[in-house]
Amino acid sequence: MRGIVQGVGFRPFVFNLAEQLSLTGWVKNTSGGVEIELNGAAAALDAFVAKLRAEAPPLARIDEVQVEATSPNGYAKFEIHASQPQPGAFLPVPADMAICPDCRRELFDPTDRRFRYPFINCTNCGPRFTIIRDLPYDRPNTTMSGFALCADCQAEYDNPRDRRFHAQPVACPRCGPHLWFEAGGQRLAEKEDALQMARAWLKDGKILAIKGLGGFHLACDASNPAAVEELRRRKKRSDKPFALMAFDLETIQRHCEVTESEADLLTSNQAPIVLLERRPTSTAAPGIAPGQHTLGLMLPYTPLHLLLLEPEPGFPDILVMTSANLSEEPIAYEDEDARARLAPLADGFLLHNRPIHMRVDDSVARASMDGRPYLLRRARGFAPGALTLPNAVRPTLATGAELKNTFCLAREQYAFLSHHIGDLENYETLRSFEEGIEHYQRLFRVRPERIACDLHPDYLASRYARQRAEEENLPLVEVQHHHAHLAACLADNDWTAPEPVIGLSFDGTGYGTDGTIWGGEVLVGGYQGYQRRFHLAYTPLPGGDQAVRRPARMALAHLRLAGVEWDPEIPAVGALCAEERTVLASQLQLRLNAPLTASMGRLFDAAAALIGVCERATYEGQPAIELEALADPQEMGSYPFQIEGEIINPAPVWQALLDEWHSGAAVPTLAARFHNSVVRLVIEVCEIVRRESGCRSAALSGGVWQNRFLLERAVPALRAAGFNVLLHRRTPPNDGCIALGQVMVAAHSIETN
Ligand SMILES: [Zn+2]
Ligand SMILES: [Zn+2]
Ligand SMILES: [Zn+2]
Repeated sequence: MRGIVQGVGFRPFVFNLAEQLSLTGWVKNTSGGVEIELNGAAAALDAFVAKLRAEAPPLARIDEVQVEATSPNGYAKFEIHASQPQPGAFLPVPADMAICPDCRRELFDPTDRRFRYPFINCTNCGPRFTIIRDLPYDRPNTTMSGFALCADCQAEYDNPRDRRFHAQPVACPRCGPHLWFEAGGQRLAEKEDALQMARAWLKDGKILAIKGLGGFHLACDASNPAAVEELRRRKKRSDKPFALMAFDLETIQRHCEVTESEADLLTSNQAPIVLLERRPTSTAAPGIAPGQHTLGLMLPYTPLHLLLLEPEPGFPDILVMTSANLSEEPIAYEDEDARARLAPLADGFLLHNRPIHMRVDDSVARASMDGRPYLLRRARGFAPGALTLPNAVRPTLATGAELKNTFCLAREQYAFLSHHIGDLENYETLRSFEEGIEHYQRLFRVRPERIACDLHPDYLASRYARQRAEEENLPLVEVQHHHAHLAACLADNDWTAPEPVIGLSFDGTGYGTDGTIWGGEVLVGGYQGYQRRFHLAYTPLPGGDQAVRRPARMALAHLRLAGVEWDPEIPAVGALCAEERTVLASQLQLRLNAPLTASMGRLFDAAAALIGVCERATYEGQPAIELEALADPQEMGSYPFQIEGEIINPAPVWQALLDEWHSGAAVPTLAARFHNSVVRLVIEVCEIVRRESGCRSAALSGGVWQNRFLLERAVPALRAAGFNVLLHRRTPPNDGCIALGQVMVAAHSIETN
């Protein structure tokens, strides 16, 4: 059998099923899957095979079962045999799973021997990927190898009728890891006292570094504005929202609106951060998510987090739990590194001695319109879950994009898309990227025979790819960014049909084949290739990144191109002083440090700045996010873009926006109309393509599709117009999907040559 069949209670399940049906023989893990040999009556054997799939344990996923006949070998009973590695074979590794209801019950049961033990787990829950050093998944290959089992734990581990049979991280207060609390280099408390000290400090408004499952969090009382502001100051992160954690669903419901599908997502095994509509009565400090009406909340997914958040009068009911790092650096996960890097950020440390082998951030998701999760960051709980590909591929490494990087290793029918690595802008993140690739190669036994990367000449991920391809003499496939978006969305939807698809690849940035910055792209094609059918008109990006941080510069560049006077009454014009405007004007005229862009993300930035929504962007996408937050959901009006040949010209939209602004239209109305205009554009271009080439499917990929207002209007409108809409399902629409798209494009470019 192949699939997710190790570390999920599969062998005890097989053992019990065999006993139940009076079958003899054995089961064993191999690094290629699970092997079972059975002797018994034909009817019992058939029943076994049927129940194998129907009754498999909750975390298991069976991809393949091969059945062969064998002669009776005279087994007296059914046994579980020791693991046997097979060189070269591979097996999907289970992701870390949130604490299960049984462990949770035992955690709070005073008669249980693991009462209040922060590392309780079983075959149905607990750490997996973050503690696995190598395969097969057995205790000596995990970071639990240093903890010898006590007699009681050993008995559970050896008993196939026990929930902890072969649960590799099994532990108890007597033999397993434990907590301690440190501050100012002093060890102040141990175990339960450490936990209580951490809680007292949090209650007091202090900021703590807390070692969790895949790394450290910085935590503080989310209802305490001073603590939240102090955390923001120390993290040097001005406006980006902080994630929150609450003890249970009822508490989350006090702070946010929670639909049924959002509740399902919150309470799932993956327990991601879920973006929820904030209730006006929530006590979360305004500094948690400035300019937004959503909060990102998650439930405690480890026993440690449950104990930390245990309700008590006077104790905060929501805590900030944000990745412990300085802005842009990867999350800290090793004790020494955390002590050094987090000392200026945290007042104290809640630590434990179970090492984290692989750092993994929390995943972020939203419930989509059809109730399925729509991932914004694919990490803990999801990675490194193997994605099945629509076709088998040769061993490939794809190195992904620059921002929100993930890499992807693929072989046969499987793609191992990495957890979220982060923005590859500094040495720390690059190191985590390189170590990640090595780890995945070893775990999944992938020896790349070709490498795929982004076309961008300067991306660190692309440089890594080029260097490796040269050193190892491997073919290198450079993939255009927006083509990768289209291919990723197709692969995510198991797309195998030969007909071309309309790729609405809308994002902030991506290197184009003409050396400009693309991002408002309407492509027609598939894995093999694409035609750039429409794109936004090229606009200078004055000062490059400077125009991203000061969206008013982008707005003024657009106005100049549209032939609109820079009237200082217009909010975007007024946002820049006269001197800044003079410099900007000559920059635009002389095209000094003003690369051309067709970016849809920057179009949203310009719209936000134009009507005075956001003057300074302190994180990627902030102007668009604030514009979306303001958009009036009742408003249905829109403006037309001008389409000439392959160029989409926004000039008429700017003109209409300004006319209405001058006549006193409210900002929420204008914000909504701008969104609606993009929806109208989407329908128009798709209809043109359908007339030209009969395409009936549209793939929505790129960071712009994280915009809920846009998505929830565009999708029904496309469907109403008769289009088959392809949305990301297992991968995020943002650049976290790029590596998967690169794998697919590379597979098709080489295999057809
Ligand atoms: Zn459990
Ligand atoms: Zn024990
Ligand atoms: Zn992108």
